[in-house]
Amino acid sequence: MTPDAPPDRYPCPGCGAVLAFSPRDGALACPYCGRSEPIAAPRSAVRERPLEEAAPAAGAAAVPGPAEVACAACGAGVALPAGETAGKCPFCGSSLFAPRASTEPWLVPEGVIPFATDREQAGSAIRSWIASRWFAPSALRRLVRTEGAQGVYLPFWTFDAATESEYTGERGRHYWETQSYTERDASGRVQTRTRRVQRTRWYPASGRVARRFDDVLVPATRSVDPGRLTALEPWDLAKVVPFDTAYLAGFKAQRHQVEVDAGFEDAKTTMAAVILGDVRADIGGDEQRVLDVRTAHSEVTYKQLLLPVWIAAYRFRGKVYQVAVNARTGEVSGERPYSVWKIAGLVALIAAAVAAIALLSGR
Ligand SMILES: [Zn+2]
Ligand SMILES: [Zn+2]
Repeated sequence: MTPDAPPDRYPCPGCGAVLAFSPRDGALACPYCGRSEPIAAPRSAVRERPLEEAAPAAGAAAVPGPAEVACAACGAGVALPAGETAGKCPFCGSSLFAPRASTEPWLVPEGVIPFATDREQAGSAIRSWIASRWFAPSALRRLVRTEGAQGVYLPFWTFDAATESEYTGERGRHYWETQSYTERDASGRVQTRTRRVQRTRWYPASGRVARRFDDVLVPATRSVDPGRLTALEPWDLAKVVPFDTAYLAGFKAQRHQVEVDAGFEDAKTTMAAVILGDVRADIGGDEQRVLDVRTAHSEVTYKQLLLPVWIAAYRFRGKVYQVAVNARTGEVSGERPYSVWKIAGLVALIAAAVAAIALLSGR
């Protein structure tokens, strides 16, 4: 145990109950007597680590973490809020049991974006999302409401890097060519005509582009589809505050499941797409062909962040579906089953409309 380990449980000074972080107040609040306790000002700014420091010695950056339970149904690891020993898996909705608190040390995240919307607001965002979905089975409304949304801090990595890329490719220039062709005119005679056709001439191109990347965000969780997490962006990464266990009070959390090196590989892929755009702009011309890009990354730094997400998981006909809400912006990203009957109904309606139009137009 680290000597100055922060507490993971905050007793109410008024009544002794356990305080929970309140998204509305941005402070610890007592659900029983209403007392509100501000979170202590951070002692330092959010720090980024050089990538060479990827695996900090155990103990250096580790604190005793909240008990993490593995979901028997989907395998996701979930840290329950301090004081809770049972609950539902936020990722698949199955029951979780934590018979014993087996706390492995946590690699402390450098920063956290605290929850800014509460369960009620998340619920209404999900309800309006469902209402706007076509073909969603009517049962969906009921399912999502009864399951309710769970607040989870999900782990992410962010990477900064300077890149220098050498490329080879081809620059395409458009030019016009006059082409003759033959055609029959109205009276059936063959006529020779000309038309202008656009062509591209290719020239070799090579060069070098450089860029600085700041806070390239990569999910470090495997429990939510990466595409679903991307759809929740943007996150206001400017609002990251230094990590404090007080923000976790009353919320579930997950420790990172993607190691920093693997996360950096994902970040490189994100960077490569931006660099490709730079290369195309550098080649110029009317069209570009990019044959080869070699990128060197330097001054790479990273940090681990916890970002706040409300997740509603529900089962429909044996399959698990998730709806996720960005707990800062209210952005919703989810999957839902399609109602075969509603789709069949619409197809039948379209067929009837086509038939009616055909009948009216007298064909
Ligand atoms: Zn109290
Ligand atoms: Zn699960």
